[in-house]
Amino acid sequence: MPDTPVRRQDGAATRVSGPPDSAVGERGAGRRARAAGARGIKPESRTALVRRARRINRELAGLYPYAHPELDFDNAFQLLVATVLSAQTTDLRVNRTTPALFAKYPTPEDLAAAVPEELEEMIRPTGFFRAKARSLLGLARVLRDDFGGEVPGRLEDLVTLPGVGRKTANVVLGNAFGVPGITVDTHFGRLVRRWRWTDEEDPEKVERAVADLFPKAEWTMLSHRVIFHGRRVCHARRPACGACAIAPLCPSYGEGETDPEKARKLLKYEMGGGAGQRLRPPADFPGRAASPPAPREGG
Ligand code: SF4
Repeated sequence: MPDTPVRRQDGAATRVSGPPDSAVGERGAGRRARAAGARGIKPESRTALVRRARRINRELAGLYPYAHPELDFDNAFQLLVATVLSAQTTDLRVNRTTPALFAKYPTPEDLAAAVPEELEEMIRPTGFFRAKARSLLGLARVLRDDFGGEVPGRLEDLVTLPGVGRKTANVVLGNAFGVPGITVDTHFGRLVRRWRWTDEEDPEKVERAVADLFPKAEWTMLSHRVIFHGRRVCHARRPACGACAIAPLCPSYGEGETDPEKARKLLKYEMGGGAGQRLRPPADFPGRAASPPAPREGG
């Protein structure tokens, strides 16, 4: 296929250009075309970009048919709380924290009435626990007072809750309400820039640019697949290019380890033979469940 990168004999990929003119506007497109020209990168048409992006999505779907949210939750309220807690920490750490939290505060009303110091102590392992406790108390009170104790199923309502931005709102909408949404977290942003789907840095602009490449029905699963790949293979530092199924479609091949043997050792979670992040993974997850936290000494 002419619009995908072609692997050279030396293992490097020929590069394709950044996002299409229509997605980014005249000024951005001109800037990128000049920059691409200066780097000897072949421009990629809008049609070619859409085709390549969708092909990457299909490859990822084959690679991660079990892709799922990596936070344990049973309902929209739990997912909302877990997503707020997941800022600046791993989903695994959140999953080890939330069972006790949800047992003590099963509803927004219970959480709204929590003693701040007790709540802080329970969520301390997730970091930034004072700010997160403030957000949780604030959002629980708004849910109780303004939304009848229910998590609203609309983006415009969710983003009015303390500590809830578009990313959190899209996670909740996509996974608790079945409303398609693109979740731009640090992994998603990094990977779509490596794939040159966009060169935007601002999460909202990334969301718009990627939304433009895919039908709405794909948005939620695409988000899971891209984040799965970022966590397992295409790491921020030392991506495992030599063990990456997306390599033939990736203009950034070679940014990480290309030796297959060494690259395989960089794979994480179930791809590297380890456990996943969820204590209660879905039935089709091929790896092991994460282990619960060790009991505290004396506890
Ligand atoms: S691991 Fe390497 S080849 Fe694979 S998507 Fe990331 S940068 Fe591209």
